[in-house]
Amino acid sequence: MPEHESSYSYDYVVIGGGTAGSVIASRLTENPDVTVAVIEGGPSDVGREDVLTLRRWMGLLGGELDYDYPTTEQPRGNSHIRHSRARVLGGCSSHNTLIAFKPLPSDWDEWEAAGAKGWGAISMEAYYARLLNNIVPVDEKDRNAIARDFVDAAQQALDVPRIEGFNRAPFTDGVGFFDLAYHPENNKRSSASVAYLHPVIDERPNLTLFLETWAHRLELDGIRAEGVHVRTKDGEELLVRARREVVLCAGAVDSPRLLMHSGIGPRKDLEALGIPVALDLPGVGENLLDHPESVIVWETDGPIPENSAMDSDAGLFVRRDPGHPGPDLMFHFYQVPFTDNPERLGYERPEFGVSMTPNIPKPKSRGRLYLESADPAVKPALDFRYFTDEDDYDARTLVDGIRIAREIARTEPLAGWLKREVAPGPEILGDAELSEYARKVAHTVYHPAGTCRMGAETDELAVVDPELRIRGLDGIRIADASVFPTMPAVNPMIGVLMVGERAVDLIGGGA
Ligand SMILES: Cc1cc2nc3c(=O)[nH]c(=O)nc-3n(C[C@H](O)[C@H](O)[C@H](O)COP(=O)(O)OP(=O)(O)OC[C@H]3O[C@@H](n4cnc5c(N)ncnc54)[C@H](O)[C@@H]3O)c2cc1C
Repeated sequence: MPEHESSYSYDYVVIGGGTAGSVIASRLTENPDVTVAVIEGGPSDVGREDVLTLRRWMGLLGGELDYDYPTTEQPRGNSHIRHSRARVLGGCSSHNTLIAFKPLPSDWDEWEAAGAKGWGAISMEAYYARLLNNIVPVDEKDRNAIARDFVDAAQQALDVPRIEGFNRAPFTDGVGFFDLAYHPENNKRSSASVAYLHPVIDERPNLTLFLETWAHRLELDGIRAEGVHVRTKDGEELLVRARREVVLCAGAVDSPRLLMHSGIGPRKDLEALGIPVALDLPGVGENLLDHPESVIVWETDGPIPENSAMDSDAGLFVRRDPGHPGPDLMFHFYQVPFTDNPERLGYERPEFGVSMTPNIPKPKSRGRLYLESADPAVKPALDFRYFTDEDDYDARTLVDGIRIAREIARTEPLAGWLKREVAPGPEILGDAELSEYARKVAHTVYHPAGTCRMGAETDELAVVDPELRIRGLDGIRIADASVFPTMPAVNPMIGVLMVGERAVDLIGGGA
């Protein structure tokens, strides 16, 4: 330990007070005899209306609470995508849209088949019931008239079921208002921090939060993780030691980043950057997953009503392939003209409008996250390799999506609202043109995952075992979106919270 560094000790050190980290810190400190330190890069969200008000989420993108990661050049996609990642207590659950889907049974079973023994649908069900978040369907008063008409039109155009409460039963297709983790009476978030930490922050002397404190390197003694080196807001260097375990919850970008800066990762890459190798773990940073989506925008005949929970309150799932275990195409309906990406191609933003965003629930392209510098302050490279899968499944899914979106738009009662299709525009009809447009304006719904995937002992690219322990090390687990072996067909946050709850069982040190 360098001389200028002070040292602190706790039973558990949780790195990242985000979505999964909040769950784990809260649950472990239910036992008053257990001490936990949380190392969180961002400030508290307590009292911050800009963070706690769900409908203000768009205002947080790219701001001071966003780590804002660029993507590398995407030859077949959109190279301008910025990946928002929240720098605040509660992590991305403090700036996301809080759409709350329990992963489908087929999603968990796919994990188990991929080597995550014990993570199948039947054993995971219990963890959903444990969640402390207030998960409710979009409230009646927040149901905008045009979103209601989208739901009616989609149901008629596609003959899919209308769903009230997407988490009540598994589904393969359907349209309806989402479940959200929020408090409808005041539009307050029910984020991981609000649900798990706020009620206990001032009550538990055994819970210590190091806020605005950055973890930059793990402390290893041979193969044992002893703690983590951090830098506080004031520039003080500390070594925070874990008597029992370190739990890494920094998310799908920052967990592999911290591992690699600690010498844990693909040997060749680390050596090339001059980072001393502590453990050759080739899977760190591989298997970078996301849910890409495209957009189709209409101008509306005048303004639409103002009421909404967060401007994208309803959605649609379609199963094109009856042999597929779950939905294979999804749409968010936005009550705003979402033209940020089309504008780059020359499209104009209409004064009033709406958008549908065809989304790929089970994309086949796989990306990779890697370091470009040994300096921990330099952001890692995120190469999603969007639309690079061999049989072009991902791009074809978006093309199908645009065509389905047009069918819905032609159907009443939605049709009556719409003045004209702005992007891609009614003259864009052929497969090739639609694919070109869909890929160039493709956006992310900010679901990076999979970069420290869980897997069986025989899986060389698995980073953690089914108990979430890092392979080849003692005293450290990972619990966040990075451990996802595959992407759930639905939005991932509830899956991350459930990973947090299960991690507590696996750690076994809580109440
Ligand atoms: C804009 C946006 C909208 C989204 N909408 C939805 C949605 O509606 N529904 C849904 O299901 N999913 C949504 N998601 C995705 C979902 O929010 C994430 O998948 C999930 O929250 C990730 O949780 P996590 O615990 O893996 O990481 P995070 O919640 O990102 O937590 C990581 C935490 O670690 C901290 N940290 C990172 N590195 C360090 C370090 N070195 N030192 C100290 N602290 C560190 C960060 O500050 C952060 O608090 C959205 C995401 C975004 C960004």
